[in-house]
Amino acid sequence: MQPFRARQLVLTAFFSLLATNIRAQEASAPPMPGFILAGAEQERALEADVIARPSANVARSHSQALSKETHVAGSEAQARTRDYVIQQMREMGLETEVRRYDAFMPYPTSVRVWRIAPTEKELSLAEPPIAGDSTSAQRQFLTVNGYSGTGDVTGDVVFVNYGLIEDYARLDSLGVSVRGRIAVARYGRSFRGIKAREAERNGAIALLIYSDPQSDGFVRGDVYPDGPMRNWNGVQRGSVMNGAGDPATPGYPSVRSAPRLPPARMDIPRIPVVPISYVNASELLGGLRGQDIPNAWQGGLPFRYHIGPGPVRARIQVADDRATNGTKPIYNTFGLVRGSERPEELVIIGGHRDAWGPGAADNVSGTVSVLEAARAVSEVVRAGHRPKRTIIFATWDAEEWGLIGSTEYVEEDSLRLARGAVAYLNQDVVAEGTRFGAGGSPSLRAVLRDVARRVADPDGAGSVFSEWQRVIGVVDTVSPPMTDPGGGSDFAGFYNHLGIPIADWGFSGESGVYHSQYDDFAWMSHFGDPSFAYHATAARIGAAMVLRLANADVLPYDYVEFARTMQRYVTPIERALSLKGWGGPTIGLRSAIARMEREAASFAAARDSVLANSVAGTRFDATNAALRDVERALTRPAGLRSRPWYRNLIYVADENNGYANMSFPSVNEAIRANDERLVAEELADLSRRFDDAARALTQARSALARTH
Ligand SMILES: [Zn+2]
Repeated sequence: MQPFRARQLVLTAFFSLLATNIRAQEASAPPMPGFILAGAEQERALEADVIARPSANVARSHSQALSKETHVAGSEAQARTRDYVIQQMREMGLETEVRRYDAFMPYPTSVRVWRIAPTEKELSLAEPPIAGDSTSAQRQFLTVNGYSGTGDVTGDVVFVNYGLIEDYARLDSLGVSVRGRIAVARYGRSFRGIKAREAERNGAIALLIYSDPQSDGFVRGDVYPDGPMRNWNGVQRGSVMNGAGDPATPGYPSVRSAPRLPPARMDIPRIPVVPISYVNASELLGGLRGQDIPNAWQGGLPFRYHIGPGPVRARIQVADDRATNGTKPIYNTFGLVRGSERPEELVIIGGHRDAWGPGAADNVSGTVSVLEAARAVSEVVRAGHRPKRTIIFATWDAEEWGLIGSTEYVEEDSLRLARGAVAYLNQDVVAEGTRFGAGGSPSLRAVLRDVARRVADPDGAGSVFSEWQRVIGVVDTVSPPMTDPGGGSDFAGFYNHLGIPIADWGFSGESGVYHSQYDDFAWMSHFGDPSFAYHATAARIGAAMVLRLANADVLPYDYVEFARTMQRYVTPIERALSLKGWGGPTIGLRSAIARMEREAASFAAARDSVLANSVAGTRFDATNAALRDVERALTRPAGLRSRPWYRNLIYVADENNGYANMSFPSVNEAIRANDERLVAEELADLSRRFDDAARALTQARSALARTH
């Protein structure tokens, strides 16, 4: 649904989160936290071996095979990618499983847009073929946003900028209403589902969302096929549902026998929502008059923008198959390496397999990374190095419609995952450029940094890590900032619903083919990753990450870094409270987090000294079980008041944005609701949960003492 790149754009953690000297911290640490000394050496050698195995050539051939046709969830073509992945994983010798769900995903049967005034013209919505790009000439998925409403409406056009809450407030102050009219919004600054929700709330009868050349078109660089950016006809498809999972089965799995809501009761838009190119947007916006725009609303089209309403009028007609065939089968695939010592403990790496077009970047690149990591790991397993824990290599279906495949899986297997999952690693758009980025739970960042130091950068002289530092422009004692888990990809079920630590990484670059028919093998081979070396590099990191987490004697979470990161989120809360004159009830939270940090530090010291003196074969089951409880303790069974499915109280996607990340959402949403009593309650609740997390660390430490 949301590319890695989009989350980097909203990177909030840029204020030097780790101005502390990471190298000095790590210099005093053992060679590999979580391993006994002899085990650390073996693990280092095994990881070097597995890192060397992914191949750019194999990645290229997987990419070509998986992006040879449009493979929208629910289609025959998407069933073929399922078969391809399963076949590959069988050949690697993995145990495989396919899991089916049936999800509501209506396909458009007809989508048409006309300008009917001042002059009449039907807009040509399809993305035309491009010479030398074979898949661009194939039949494409009609340009409609996933879960658009249906209907046939006519009205005056109003330009609403990005269609954000504040844009409608501005329109209000200018005396312009979209009620009974057709809103035209540009992509950017928020998830498109929020744009649809706000247009509908404000009474618009339809919404057109277009890609402004300023955001990913000619203003930014040469356009496809001359360059990587969006051309005049490029269209960004994409879902406009704001929740996660099949809207017919909220909170429970879409197995065949499950009861289902009728479309009228689902939490999806009612108005038609259609994405259009900037050539089509200029046909509508170019003739708008009425109000002049606030200057910041001007985009990159070569005329002065106006708000309207009118004199441009438009007609929009959307029909779909919901009455006859709205529910379609989706398939997650799993390849599994059973753990030798702790088979019930799971390390999961996955990426979505569905796309809106050929999807070479989104998300054939992630699928290929998972496949090549699986091949590398399966080879070392066959050579006799079976991991201690079970490793699962997953590909998810229907992510693009609203994280459906991964969400249904997490809902179906919630007990097993809540008990046994050690980490979920996500691969979504991992090779469309050369710029490394990474993120996830603060508890896993140290492991990810260490692995990035072991993997060579494909173009640079050093490691992925040193190249990352160079590009970000930090000195070599400082770690580049990582992104926090907001919303928008398959980690949501694991992270937001169950509190399982997650991590993700990938390489981004200049791209204007997001959710377009032109996100294809030709684009990838010319611009995204011509050598396919970045696909292979993402897989090298994945292979080493899963082995590290699957083989550690004691799970290598870093809860000192976690707690320090948490302290930073208290400051903006204090600022907000003092602005409101609500005093400082954050002292309790600050000290609870400080207690957690002290417990984490004592645990880490105890762990290191016990492991330094342990022999191979020592079991740390009770310690590991307690460690798995630490982040789970920071979830709340009843969830957020705004969204009960979202149980994690550390990070969530901002309800009013969809892409931007919100830390401590239970508290910050109470502040936003201007409810002083609720803020105090939520602060107390969150503090208690940090104390629970600290207690889990204490238990982990006492269990450690009992192993000797
Ligand atoms: Zn994606």
